[in-house]
Amino acid sequence: MKRIAVLTSGGDAPGMNACIRAVVRTALNNNLDIYGVERGYAGLVKGEITRLGSRSVSDMIHKGGTFLKTARCPEFKDLEAQKQAADALSAFGIEGLVVIGGDGTFRGAKDLSDNFGIKVMGIPGTIDNDLAYTDYTVGFDTAVNTVLWAISNLRDTMHSHDRVCLLEVMGRHCGDIALYAGVAGGAEYVLVPEIPYDLDEIASSIKKSYMRGKTSNMMILAEGAGNRDEIAAYVQEKSGINVKVTNFGYIQRGGSPSMVDRVYAARFGYKAVELLMNDSESLAIGIKDNKVITVPFDEVSKAHKNFDKKLYNIAQILSL
Ligand code: ADP
Repeated sequence: MKRIAVLTSGGDAPGMNACIRAVVRTALNNNLDIYGVERGYAGLVKGEITRLGSRSVSDMIHKGGTFLKTARCPEFKDLEAQKQAADALSAFGIEGLVVIGGDGTFRGAKDLSDNFGIKVMGIPGTIDNDLAYTDYTVGFDTAVNTVLWAISNLRDTMHSHDRVCLLEVMGRHCGDIALYAGVAGGAEYVLVPEIPYDLDEIASSIKKSYMRGKTSNMMILAEGAGNRDEIAAYVQEKSGINVKVTNFGYIQRGGSPSMVDRVYAARFGYKAVELLMNDSESLAIGIKDNKVITVPFDEVSKAHKNFDKKLYNIAQILSL
């Protein structure tokens, strides 16, 4: 293999730039030509492909977002769009592709590989940590640290006013951001889509803790676990204590990547190029027990993510 390309797709995540850098520098170190595709599959279909050099990724390792940009491309599910993408790669003489993204991105990668024989390596880049085959995805650690920053700021003001705070964080189907930020930030209540919760119990526990002298409580809600305003109104009515809602929104997507995300980015990017050079079949790259692993794309979609109930129980015990 002489010529490869890299793209970022789906939701952006901190560490994507560090990962592109790792792919580019590993490729150049092995005398491969390396190209960048702009705007994910949307750009690939249109042939938005440019040659990258070592300096293209200078001063990138610490920046959030993705300098290659990312986009949604719903039409990539159609064979015709995939063919255009394959033709664009072939026009540039590109034989291997590294995609950085989430579940959807990996489905596109599998299609390109199955239908057009392109070697594609997938690197998990998403803040949600919602891929079952890997312990962590690039971007998750930074997002949790950003939420932690918000929790400490909120605690200052909630404590001063004797209020309960409900902080909504990202996670439609996967409550990992809420769980990890909840444990690390000492939240009293963690509401996630994976575990049922009882608002009457929460309201009564808040009331009791208030009577014991604990006048501020922090609830962290993953967005997929319920409607923040309805939950806040219900708990306020039942407990008689003021509940203030904060929706953290897109702030948690950005920011300079953490050490953890930069190191995963480096390890995954290096591995992706190594696999392409070894003419490996198309694979998704991940991390298990701190070892870089690979799995076929088929297994990515089949694997069911197990929520860490033990950590959830620890969060509950430590919140008393
Ligand atoms: P993520 O990769 O973060 O899960 P999306 O679900 O938006 O983000 O997927 C990113 C892109 O991957 C989509 O815009 C689309 O181009 C492509 N994609 C998603 N699902 C499929 C599919 N079933 N087949 C082919 N391509 C897909």
